[in-house]
Amino acid sequence: MLFKGGAALETFGAVTQFAFDKTGTLTTGQAEVVTLVAPGMSDEDFLALFAELEAHSEHSIAAAVRRRAAKQDLAPLPVFDVVAHPSEGITGRDGDGPLWAGNPRMAARMGADLTADFEGLVGNAQTVFWLGRGSQILGAVAVADGLRPTSRAALEALRAGGVPHIALMTGDRRPVAERIGAQLGLSPSDIHADLLPEDKVRLVSKLSQTGAVAFVGDGVNDAAALARADVGIAMGAAGSEVALQAADVALLSEDMARRAAAHKLARRTARIIRQNLTFAMGAMVVLVSGALFLQLPLPLAVVGHEGGTVLVVLNGLRLLFDPIRADRGASLRAREESAQEQDRRQTAPTRG
Ligand code: ADP
Ligand code: MG
Repeated sequence: MLFKGGAALETFGAVTQFAFDKTGTLTTGQAEVVTLVAPGMSDEDFLALFAELEAHSEHSIAAAVRRRAAKQDLAPLPVFDVVAHPSEGITGRDGDGPLWAGNPRMAARMGADLTADFEGLVGNAQTVFWLGRGSQILGAVAVADGLRPTSRAALEALRAGGVPHIALMTGDRRPVAERIGAQLGLSPSDIHADLLPEDKVRLVSKLSQTGAVAFVGDGVNDAAALARADVGIAMGAAGSEVALQAADVALLSEDMARRAAAHKLARRTARIIRQNLTFAMGAMVVLVSGALFLQLPLPLAVVGHEGGTVLVVLNGLRLLFDPIRADRGASLRAREESAQEQDRRQTAPTRG
């Protein structure tokens, strides 16, 4: 975890509410195209067209379309006038006219009707997005984007550490948000779907009226919420450049559990700062009173003053034995054990 200064660490210690972005934050963002529906054209033509537009998007679901097209050796054609519409999709123009890709909100903006052809897709709890030309729908894909292996444990650790309120905020559709929320044990009232970037800002503002809020996001369509939150936490390496700019804290590893450990560390830091301030003030009062009323000898006053400083430093050094280190030890051990377990499983049949 990279803290941009001591203030971020202190505020983080006071955080009582966490809001998480979904795509690329709680999920890996390494989506795979699992279903493809293109009623009026071949899958290949459809994919080439789709990839042509998504070549210009930084969204992780766009990468899923690009990867699928690359796997089938389809070279995307050139497009022009590309505009990204945050949390809706992307528009552009090729030799045959205007093109768009995006969610139902984007389709509605284009006057397109998501008819019966796609009912099966809409009903399932996967991220679905459509490709169209004007009001004509060309097809749709569903992508599967799994939870990060550490997301569940991270949320559990936060709850165990006394964070009473955890919310999910996503621009994706409600069925997807509810499936992911249920896997993480979130209550339905804390799951917010179909959000635009400004909706996330509004929700974070509302939450922060009842206590300090940390927003965790990858910066794709949520940089404003990262900036608005009392503490914005960016998915460092996995996130975007803008996330690193907007955030107060950046997570440099993919391990979500680090977040709960860092929250623990921030709270310990704030506690030790308070202890040290109280002690230093107390020592000052005693020494000043001693000097004024008891004619405290100078050498004793100096020893009291400098000795106090040493005690404060020693108390601060207790943070070296921090929960992050302890947790890191535990998580390394767990990783080693699971690797050994895998080895055993792989060698067992040959031995038998
Ligand atoms: P999240 O909040 O979960 O990270 P976003 O707000 O980034 O999700 O995106 C919300 C939805 O907007 C996506 O699920 C997708 O349907 C649509 N969308 C966004 N960008 C694109 C794009 N480049 N191509 C197609 N659809 C997109
Ligand atoms: Mg996201």
